[in-house]
Amino acid sequence: MTGFPIGLHKPVEHDGQLPDAADVLIIGGGVIGVMSALFLARKGQKVVLLEKGRIAGEQSSRNWGWIRQTGRDIDELPIAMEANRLWPQLQAELGEDLGLARLGVAYLAEKPQSIERYETWLNLAKPHGMDSRILTSAETKALLPGATRRYHGALHTPSDMKAEPWVAVPALARAAAAAGVVIRENCAVRALDLTAGRIGGAVTERGRIRADQVLVAGGAWSSLFLRQYGINIPQLSILAQVLATEALPALDMPAAGNDRLAFRRRTDGGFTLAEGGWHRLFIGPDAFRHLWPYREQIKAHPFGASYHPAAPKGFPDAWGTKRSWSPEEETPFERMRVLDPKPVEARQRRTLAEFAQLFPALGAPRIKASWAGMIDAMPDIVPVVDHAPIEGLSICTGMCGHGFGIGPAFGRIMADLITGGDVGHDLTRFRLSRFSDGSKMDMGPGL
Ligand SMILES: Cc1cc2nc3c(=O)[nH]c(=O)nc-3n(C[C@H](O)[C@H](O)[C@H](O)COP(=O)(O)OP(=O)(O)OC[C@H]3O[C@@H](n4cnc5c(N)ncnc54)[C@H](O)[C@@H]3O)c2cc1C
Repeated sequence: MTGFPIGLHKPVEHDGQLPDAADVLIIGGGVIGVMSALFLARKGQKVVLLEKGRIAGEQSSRNWGWIRQTGRDIDELPIAMEANRLWPQLQAELGEDLGLARLGVAYLAEKPQSIERYETWLNLAKPHGMDSRILTSAETKALLPGATRRYHGALHTPSDMKAEPWVAVPALARAAAAAGVVIRENCAVRALDLTAGRIGGAVTERGRIRADQVLVAGGAWSSLFLRQYGINIPQLSILAQVLATEALPALDMPAAGNDRLAFRRRTDGGFTLAEGGWHRLFIGPDAFRHLWPYREQIKAHPFGASYHPAAPKGFPDAWGTKRSWSPEEETPFERMRVLDPKPVEARQRRTLAEFAQLFPALGAPRIKASWAGMIDAMPDIVPVVDHAPIEGLSICTGMCGHGFGIGPAFGRIMADLITGGDVGHDLTRFRLSRFSDGSKMDMGPGL
């Protein structure tokens, strides 16, 4: 791998004429859009999935690849557990290697207070049948062969997994296409087509498509898109960065980490590393507009983000980004086909040095690729998964940095929500109206 594998340099894989009509039109070719499309097609729906850039070009290829139940919000946990069952099934059905492995996930405690938080979560998670356990300091040492740091302990879930994001999501998209989904890359949706106040389809940069149902799964762009229709989601996008090392000697250990350092081994023998607790928020009009709902999050992690006065040109919350447009004109979605933020290289080198100090036996790791992504954050750290107040419109967005692992289950849920099937879980916590119905912000016990 030289540089990041998915971007505008990658040839368009899904191209062709746009159909005139579909049962369901999906906006966004990340893991949520792709998995919803696959499950809808399996239910016999005619699905068109439109992606402004490349399938998985944004968050869905840029993530750490953790498929994690550990530390989930308790209302998300049964959904994460369903995803944990779905991933191996999907890999078997596709007959393609998604890089899936049951490595386990461990949260590493540097302070006794972290263990107390893990215990609180574990007491709530246990009744769901989770196999998570708090490890002692000695057990944690045994879990991380050669680690030089002594941890107070860890929260360990052996059943957690990893997959290789930039391999898995494009493979799942190919499976969706094989199941009959019409996927088009380089095709932005500019606007909804509303007829008598309900969904009649959408206007794309290549013309109109009729559809009775539209799903917005636009990741960091969803709130910009939805505000055209008076749907206000307090979603912000925050930069998170990752680096990949060259292949290193094998070490048998789980994906593990904390705010200082997160690491997991990739299928190609290298490690994917990140400074777990560091993010950058670019200040823009939405950051001001939504400051109030984020007050709890800022209070809990006052130094969790570095603040920058302005986003680069064309980003969803950049000062110059258009907030409204007509369907006949070029939109912000076409102007930024793949959101590809620059990582802060000095911090990347620090992360690499941190990893090298933790595992000196691995020698001097070298950076193979370095990248960043824009996470679609929500004030209460759970997504919006709901019907919208416009008939025929559904939303699945705001995955808050943990949508890759849970993606297959939210895809299955959206297929049922849209077709009137049994969603199988209580989605109350993920309702759109929680930001406007006077509810108190519920930060949940997620870690
Ligand atoms: C650095 C980083 C690390 C992460 N680590 C993990 C992890 O280890 N485990 C985990 O579970 N999650 C992780 N995540 C989060 C995870 O990647 C995301 O939650 C998930 O990929 C979100 O999927 P999505 O489909 O909602 O959005 P995205 O993958 O962002 O896809 C949305 C797509 O919609 C397209 N789009 C938007 N608007 C339009 C439009 N108008 N027309 C057409 N297309 C449009 C965009 O181009 C984009 O491709 C991480 C994220 C980052 C950035």
